[in-house]
Amino acid sequence: MTFTFSVSRAVEIFQHVRFYSRRLDRMTFEELNVNQELVKGLNEIGIKEPTDIQQKTIPLIKQGKDVIGISKTGSGKTVAFGIPLLEKIQQGQGVQFLIIAPVRELAVQISKELKKFGKYVKFYVATVFGGVAINPQIEAIERADIVVGTPGRLLDHLENHKLDISRVKCVVLDEADKMVEMGFIEDIRIILNKTPKHRQMLLFGATISHEIEELKQKYMHNSLTVQTESHVQEEYLEQYYYNIKQYEKFSLLVHLLNKEEDKGLTIIFCSARSTVEMVTRNLRDNGIKVEMTHGKLSQNRRLSIIENFHKGRPNVLVASAVAARGLDIKDVTHIFNYDLSQDPEEYIHRIGRTARAGQTGKAITLLSERDHDTFREILSRYPVEVKELPLEDFPRLGFNAGMRRRFGGRGFRSSGGYGSYNRSRPRSYNRGSSFGDRSHRGSSSFSGRSRPHGRYGSSSRSGSGSFGRRY
Ligand code: ADP
Ligand code: MG
Repeated sequence: MTFTFSVSRAVEIFQHVRFYSRRLDRMTFEELNVNQELVKGLNEIGIKEPTDIQQKTIPLIKQGKDVIGISKTGSGKTVAFGIPLLEKIQQGQGVQFLIIAPVRELAVQISKELKKFGKYVKFYVATVFGGVAINPQIEAIERADIVVGTPGRLLDHLENHKLDISRVKCVVLDEADKMVEMGFIEDIRIILNKTPKHRQMLLFGATISHEIEELKQKYMHNSLTVQTESHVQEEYLEQYYYNIKQYEKFSLLVHLLNKEEDKGLTIIFCSARSTVEMVTRNLRDNGIKVEMTHGKLSQNRRLSIIENFHKGRPNVLVASAVAARGLDIKDVTHIFNYDLSQDPEEYIHRIGRTARAGQTGKAITLLSERDHDTFREILSRYPVEVKELPLEDFPRLGFNAGMRRRFGGRGFRSSGGYGSYNRSRPRSYNRGSSFGDRSHRGSSSFSGRSRPHGRYGSSSRSGSGSFGRRY
């Protein structure tokens, strides 16, 4: 076990070194021979210089190579595969390009982005996803040069013979890692088997897994893997955490939301749908305007919520991770993790919602004891630096855990600790400095290691005593 870890870690470190040493000077889109219409469209939406992943993949894709592009969320992968595709469009030849994405919001977003920077290129894109009427999609497919869709609905159209992908020139799997994780691998295989054998294939994502290796072996030809380290500059993203009792999380959240601070759009992530609902309800009870999104809402509802959120109506969104994965929402300045998902990778995707393309952002995690294991796992796996913030004074608020009450008076604390504090009177108290007595009070999951003061970082493994590492 230890051995496996250290080998993979060594490989990882080696890769970082390699990427840095190879870092190229910035090029322009012109120097990458991107056509004028596209450069113009890109400029109009403020995209002036290619990101690392764009710089490294665009030339290869243009040459017709099969490419695996791995880079963090927010590094501009849509433009990376979108440019070469739009350059190759020849209208009137049926569906030439197929882009597969894990969730509908992402499919919609990809289409939108293509239309935006492809404003001066003539093409038609059909976006297909489940949960909505099928006929308008069929009509759109008939005219489409590019089809963007989620696996399930793509299969429906294929089975109904409404979609012909037998002549596509290129297939793109976007967020391939997520699709594997969501169990779409078999659907993807079926879809790929209906495309020509020698079409180009591109696979984009944030991580490579075993299943992706398999896809590569089976469906790609002499593929090249490009992996870049640089995020939308990491120095723009500040990551913090608070150590807080589970039942005080909500009060702290309200306090932080109300804090005078330049805030653009704010997303609050919760790992469970029920928590999304509860937190939303309680925020509203406290006079805070919020919307929520999670996988159980209808597709149309989810889309319109995201659409409104883009416009700041309202500017706070409570979300489950699935609903927000891969989405690019401009101007998100604050991410709150109300709790952590058990999957450490989810953290990376959540924080990828902010500080996109050169903007600044803050990701703030509210950690209670139950989040500690995942948090430690995140820090050991990913090169992130998360600093602890001392608790300030904040009023304690009531938190109504709603339906839980119906289930036989077990009390909120025992049923998941969503807040047993139904104090009628808000009260303030000062917890004092950042750790104080906290380090030996109740955080059993950290026992056996002295708790670092100030911040956590992945180099804790090295035992160097310095926490927080940057790449
Ligand atoms: P990823 O797929 O890697 O998560 P996206 O393709 O969603 O990233 O892009 C993230 C954001 O960055 C989008 O708003 C996009 O318009 C913007 N963007 C893409 N390329 C650039 C660039 N070269 N310069 C500035 N912003 C960019
Ligand atoms: Mg993307």
